[in-house]
Amino acid sequence: MPKIIVLAGDGIGPEIVAEAVKILDCVADRFEIDLQTEEALVGGAAYDATGHPLPPETLELCRNSDAVLLGAVGGPRYDAIEPPELRPERGALLPLRKHLGLYANLRPAILYPVLAGASSLRADLVTEGLDILVVRELTGGLYFGQPKENKNGRAVDTCVYTKPEIERIAHRAFLAARSRSKRLCSVDKANVLETSRLWRATVHEVAEQYPDVELSDMLVDNCAMQLVRDPRQFDVIVTENLFGDILSDEAAMLTGSLGMLPSASLGQGTFGLYEPCHGSAPDIAGKGVANPLATILSAAMLLRYSLDCEDAAAAVEQAVADVLADGLRTPDIAAAGEATVGTREMGEAVLDALTMDMARD
Ligand code: NAD
Repeated sequence: MPKIIVLAGDGIGPEIVAEAVKILDCVADRFEIDLQTEEALVGGAAYDATGHPLPPETLELCRNSDAVLLGAVGGPRYDAIEPPELRPERGALLPLRKHLGLYANLRPAILYPVLAGASSLRADLVTEGLDILVVRELTGGLYFGQPKENKNGRAVDTCVYTKPEIERIAHRAFLAARSRSKRLCSVDKANVLETSRLWRATVHEVAEQYPDVELSDMLVDNCAMQLVRDPRQFDVIVTENLFGDILSDEAAMLTGSLGMLPSASLGQGTFGLYEPCHGSAPDIAGKGVANPLATILSAAMLLRYSLDCEDAAAAVEQAVADVLADGLRTPDIAAAGEATVGTREMGEAVLDALTMDMARD
């Protein structure tokens, strides 16, 4: 029986995760997925209860699960905790990713046509919406390479990639592209960097195993420009850690709304950690107005990548598209003067749409 650990965390985390769990329960029932969910403490909530933002029991539960659904961690109350290793983001998020071996970060940037007005791009570039998937390598490159130092007015970061690290992320990206429109763009800086030359050569080697996927290469500076010039040319983008960090945020902002962006961080096999891209939004926590859709869409990714339930994932994504088409808006995605709904109403509306869609099928 697949086991999902639910880490609600801090701020709006518990509010948005509650809605996503209702959706998971509903699809589990309808698609006969024998699902078991268990809650555990993380972040400031865990620090308050146990003195550590990632208690060993939580890590152990995650290690023994099939997937983790995370809300968000952190908040002003925890920003000044000493030592900094006990602050929620540093003490929980980074160790979680490291201990769970999450090396592939998948961030879809989806702009629903009905929300085209929220995009930072000119309307004519995005009237038909956007659907780009950025696959970012998460555990290598400049962020982790040694030596790393800053002394006597000289600082060093080291960019290191090995062939196996590039191969495993490339496989993830080709598989993702295969399940979509079969186009993959690999982004590097092969005109300057040795790591990029190894990246490009390795991605092309892996490509031989995916003859049905059309592979192209693009230099990262050009990709940054093309994303704002003509984003619809992209389907799946795969790139290394630093470039992916920047490009996934750029792609995300083309959609205009933080409350709509899900993510998956995948490790070996089918294990993954799923979370919205936004933080704990302390400014609106407890008010019942947070947008739960990024977390609900993260749950859809969990169904797709960790449980191999494509039908259930697609049903959840369709239900989200339906409620948006029906005009439901939380305040963060509402145009000026538009009526808004709260977190729970939005969650209930997705649940209703899901039930109606499934009854029709
Ligand atoms: P944030 O993403 O929490 O909020 C930025 C802005 O977006 C705020 O105005 C917030 O109200 C709004 N927003 C975010 N999510 C929303 C949603 N679902 N619905 C409606 N509006 C939403 O970023 P921040 O304010 O820089 O950080 C707040 C706290 O979250 C900090 O403690 C930070 O360290 C932490 N954080 C955690 C994560 C994580 O858990 N993965 C990520 C980023 C920030």
